Amino acid sequence: MVNIKTHLKLFDTLIQPIVLYGCEVWGLDMFNKDTDKVLSMKKVIANCEKLELKILKQILGVHCKTTNLAVYGELGRVPLRVKILSQITKFAYRIQFQCQNANLVEFCTALQNDPFHNAKKFIEDLETKLTLPKSRESIKHYAKKIKEAFTTKLIDTWEKDIYQFPKLEVYSDIKECFQCEPYLLDINNFNERQALSQLRTSSHNLKIEVGRYFGQNRDKRNCPICNNGDIEGEFHYIMNCHVYEPYRVILFQKLEQLDLYEWQHCSDDQMKFSFLLQAYDKKAMQIICKFLVEIKNKRQSILTIKT
Ligand SMILES: [Zn+2]
Repeated sequence: MVNIKTHLKLFDTLIQPIVLYGCEVWGLDMFNKDTDKVLSMKKVIANCEKLELKILKQILGVHCKTTNLAVYGELGRVPLRVKILSQITKFAYRIQFQCQNANLVEFCTALQNDPFHNAKKFIEDLETKLTLPKSRESIKHYAKKIKEAFTTKLIDTWEKDIYQFPKLEVYSDIKECFQCEPYLLDINNFNERQALSQLRTSSHNLKIEVGRYFGQNRDKRNCPICNNGDIEGEFHYIMNCHVYEPYRVILFQKLEQLDLYEWQHCSDDQMKFSFLLQAYDKKAMQIICKFLVEIKNKRQSILTIKT
């Protein structure tokens, strides 16, 4: 089984260079004075990101409708536009300050509507806005700073945006910071890892989510497994639904045996629920993921019998 790190490495080394080939030139239209060209360039970049997101969702094993913010957050990756903008600024910087070829400089500055000129201005603006040092550093160092600045800006926006989506209600509660989640690297079994990813990102088939697709009133999204009238949300599924109680009892016993400080100090069910979705202990994660697969299979078998 190929692990997540290898999957991402394969994407970054085999697919990404093809998708972004020449982006430092075609991406210059981002700075064109013609707003139509800027809009069409944004669409091109959006398509590049769409392809990356499709692959990232496959790697996580989540539904194609999973919120992009959760996918980026879960893997600790920023959108491709960061790479594109970094490449453009690196290229523009190189032409402006380091290129010895007068013909190339002349060609770049004579581009229609002068997007290159705007790109140069963009670099100068960045230096002011991001308080980059005025001295011209080596291109490698400069490019690194540009990339870091773009990344920081996007993460700042991400931290605010995850609270804006009702679909990310659980995710915004359990996600502590923008980083690749340790369980993605620690759990090698795809089904086990997927079960956790799906619950964390609300990319599952529980009624709370499926009802949303059909515009069903939230109060009507009741649990079809126990039929006790509770809404089938993540909390009910993991902590309350009595059908899964035998699995839950075993899970809690196993967690007790690990003697973890964080688990011992969970004073109520809400804290236990949060722990189960965000534990950083490798052994605990393995036990929790196995439990999630068990109840997922149980739910599926009950629904199959009913239909
Ligand atoms: Zn239930």
